[in-house]
Amino acid sequence: LVGTPPMGAFWMPFTANRKFKQSPQLIVGAEGMHYRLADGRLVLDAIAGLWCVNAGHRNPRVTAALKAQIDVLDYASNFQSGHPAAFELAARLADFAPGDLNHVFFTNSGSESVDTALKIAVAYHRARGDAGRYRLIGRERDYHGVSFGGISVSGIGRQRSTFGPLLNGVDHLPTTHDPVRNAFSRGEPVHGIEKADALEAMLVLHDPSTVAAVIVEPVAGSTGVLPPPQGYLRRLREICDRHGVLLIFDEVITGFGRLGANFAADLTGVLPDLITAAKGLSNGAVPMGAVLVRDGVHDAFMHGAAGSVELMHGYTYSGHPLACAAASATLDAYLEDGLIAQAAALSPYLEDGLHALRGLPGVIDVRNLGLLAGVELAPYAGGTMTRGQAVAQQCLARGVMVRAVGDTIALSPPFTISRAQIDEIVDTLRAAILNTVD
Ligand code: PMP
Repeated sequence: LVGTPPMGAFWMPFTANRKFKQSPQLIVGAEGMHYRLADGRLVLDAIAGLWCVNAGHRNPRVTAALKAQIDVLDYASNFQSGHPAAFELAARLADFAPGDLNHVFFTNSGSESVDTALKIAVAYHRARGDAGRYRLIGRERDYHGVSFGGISVSGIGRQRSTFGPLLNGVDHLPTTHDPVRNAFSRGEPVHGIEKADALEAMLVLHDPSTVAAVIVEPVAGSTGVLPPPQGYLRRLREICDRHGVLLIFDEVITGFGRLGANFAADLTGVLPDLITAAKGLSNGAVPMGAVLVRDGVHDAFMHGAAGSVELMHGYTYSGHPLACAAASATLDAYLEDGLIAQAAALSPYLEDGLHALRGLPGVIDVRNLGLLAGVELAPYAGGTMTRGQAVAQQCLARGVMVRAVGDTIALSPPFTISRAQIDEIVDTLRAAILNTVD
C-alpha cells in the first residue's frame, strides 16, 4: 500500500480508515485487464482482483447477465422453492466438474464453501453409521478462509493461535514446500513426493477409523504459490482410499481455469470427493461459492440428513439469482470464448518470462502452474516493510498491481491478458526487484 499502513493479517475495518479515501490505491473503476485509480491512473491488474476476476473486469457477458437477471428476479429462496438460474447453473457445473462430482451446494464465499465441505464430510460418515470419524487433517501452509472450521484446518499457525481453541482432533500434514529446494521449480517437479507418505503415518497415529477427511489446496496460493511435487496428490488419494478417508481439494484459487484446466483435479487426473470453489466461479462480480460433491458422498449425506438438510445447512443467499446469472455467464466466457484454453496456451510464455528473473539479486525461486505464479524474494535483513511489500509498492508506482504474500510476489492475471501485457508485468517486476536490492 502506498501512504497507508501495510495490510497485516486482518482486513482493514472500513470505519477506522477514513484516511484511505485519500489513498492513491483507491480503486474507482475497472475494465478488462485494468483498474482505474482515484488519481486517474490505469494500472494493470496482475492478480485478477483477489485471484477471482479470471475472465477480466466487467466482462461483457457477466455484466449483461446481471442486468438481465435483476430485471426479472431479484431474490428467491432455494430452501422450499427454487428458481431457474440456480437449476441451470447446477446442471452446468455438474458438466464442468470432473468425474462424478455432479452435485453442488451453493455458498457465498470460499470460507463458507470450506465450512460446508468439512461438515458434509463429517455428516457423510455419520450417515453411514461411522460416527467415530470426526478428525480432519489439513496441511501446513494451506489457507482455507476465516471461519472456525477453515481456521482449524488451516496451515497458518498465527491464524490458529490467534483464534483458538478450535475444532477438536485436527492435525496437519507437513507442507510440501522445501525452502532449500522448492518443489516444482522448473526442472525439479518430482522432488519431495515422499512428503505424501506423512499422511499414512498420521492416519496410523490417530487410528484411521477416527479420521473423516483430508483437505488440501492443490496449489497453496495465499502462502506463496506452492505447487506440490508431481504425483503428490495422487499418492494422497491412494492413502485416503486405503483408509476410507474423504479427500477435499480446496480449489477456491485453483478452480475455474486458473491452472489452465477446469480444476486442478482435471490437470492432475486426481479426483477428490469434494471440491470447494468460489472466486472465479462468478468472476468476482458478485459473491458466490460452491461445494461440488461426488454422487456417492452426496447420496449418503442426503440420506442421512433424512430430508431435513435444509434446516441444518444452507444460507439465505445460497444460489442467489444474481450470483447464478453471473456464474453462468462466466462459464460462457470460460468455455465459449475459450478463456481456459487461452490460459493454458499463455502459461509457457508467462513461465519463460518469469524464469528469466531467476538470476536477479534477491530472487530465490520462481514457481508457476497455468496462470498462477509466485516469485520468491530473499527477506530484507531489517526495515519497516517486507521486501515483498516494497516490490509490490514499486510495481504499483510503475502501473502494475501485484500481490505480496510474505516475500513472494503472487501473480494470477485475468485469462484475457495479452503477451505484451505479460511482458509488461515481467519488465515491471524486474525493475522493481532491482530497485529494492538491500
Ligand atoms: N480457500 C482458499 C484456497 C482461498 O484462497 C480463500 C481466499 N483467498 C478461501 C478459501 C476463502 O475464501 P473467501 O475469502 O471467499 O472466504
